[in-house]
Amino acid sequence: MAFKCPRWTLANILPVAFVLWIMSVLWCLYVLCHLVPTLRILTPKGNIRLGVLVEGDGLMMQPGVIQTIISQSLTFMVLFCFVKAVNTDPGSVPQTEEWMPTLRSSTASKKGSDAFNIGTTGSVSASVQRTSISYEQKRTGGQRFCKWCSCFKPDRAHHCRICRSCILRMDHHCPWIANCIGFNNYKYFFLLVFYSLLNVLYIAFTMVDSLNRVMYQETTLLFRFLVVFGMTLAGIMSTLLVLFFSLHVTLIARGVTTIEFCEKARNPDSQASIYNTGCMENFKMALGPNILFWLVPASFPEGDGLTYKVTDSTEQERLRRESQSSASSDSRSSSDQASAADDAARSPGKIVVTGASSSSSLPNGS
Ligand SMILES: [Zn+2]
Ligand SMILES: [Zn+2]
Repeated sequence: MAFKCPRWTLANILPVAFVLWIMSVLWCLYVLCHLVPTLRILTPKGNIRLGVLVEGDGLMMQPGVIQTIISQSLTFMVLFCFVKAVNTDPGSVPQTEEWMPTLRSSTASKKGSDAFNIGTTGSVSASVQRTSISYEQKRTGGQRFCKWCSCFKPDRAHHCRICRSCILRMDHHCPWIANCIGFNNYKYFFLLVFYSLLNVLYIAFTMVDSLNRVMYQETTLLFRFLVVFGMTLAGIMSTLLVLFFSLHVTLIARGVTTIEFCEKARNPDSQASIYNTGCMENFKMALGPNILFWLVPASFPEGDGLTYKVTDSTEQERLRRESQSSASSDSRSSSDQASAADDAARSPGKIVVTGASSSSSLPNGS
C-alpha cells in the first residue's frame, strides 16, 4: 500500500514547528551567547590563523573553534536525521495479491468466480488466506486483517489512524515529526534522539563557562538572562532526551516496539516478546547488521519488514501446532473415508473410490 499521509494539516504542523523553534532558539543562544564570545575572548591573547591560536613557541587549537566544529557537526546530524525521519515512508503493506485480497477478488470476479468474499466489517472468507507464515493472529484465531486498508496485516504491522495506512513494524506515531515510526525510518528516529541528546548535553556542558562568566563578570542584564535561559533550555531538553533515549535502548534490547511494550504492559499475563532473539540480534534488527554503523545513518536493518526472526520456542510451538492440525485433518479424512465405505456397504449400488476423496454412484443392478 502506498504511503499516504495527510500530514500537513495545521494541527500536525504545529508540533513540528514547535520542535524546529526549540532547535532554532537553542542554536541561536549557543552561537550568540557562547561561541562568539568564546572566540572573541581568546583573540587578544594570541595571533589566530585559520582557527589555530599561536601562543608563545607552540600551537594550540582555540577551544572556541573546537567547540564550533563539534557543535555544528552535531547540529548538522540532528537536522539530517530529522529531515530523513520526517520524509521517509515508514513502510507500507505491498500492493500485491498476497496481502490485498481485494486484488484477488477483482481478478476472480473478472473470471466470473465468487470464491472471494470480503465483508464490510473486514471479515474474510476462508478461501482468501495467505500462504506465508504469520506468528501473530487475531484473538479469535485467523489472520489479522485491516478493514480500513482491506489488506492482511503482516506481523508487527499496525494501522495508524492519523496516517490512514498500515505501517510495517509500527513503533508509534510521532506528532513531533508528523510521521509514523516504522520499519524504514526507525533508525533515523533513533539517531535523531541520539544526536539531539549529544547536542544538548554538549551545549549544556560547554555553556557552563559562559554561565560562570556572566555570573561573576559585569555584563548586561539581557545577556545574562539569555545565557541562563539557554542553559535552562539545554538542561530541560537533556533530561527529557536522556529518558526517551534510555526507553528506546531498553525497547531495542528487549526486541519490542513501543506499541508491543504498551500492549504487554496492559496485559500482565503476556509473555516475553516472541521477537526477542538475544540482545545483539535485537540491536541488529533495529539498527542494522554492522555494529560499526549503528550510530550513523547508514547500513539499515535487513529484511523486507514483512517477516521477522522469532525465538526458537515460538518456532517449535508453531511446528507442533502445524503437525497437530495436519494429524487431525488426516484423521478427519480417514474417518470420512471410513464412513463413506460404510455407506457403500449399506448401499450396494454405490462404489467408493478409496485413496481419493471422491465417490461415484452407479445405478442399482448394473
Ligand atoms: Zn490499515
Ligand atoms: Zn501515523
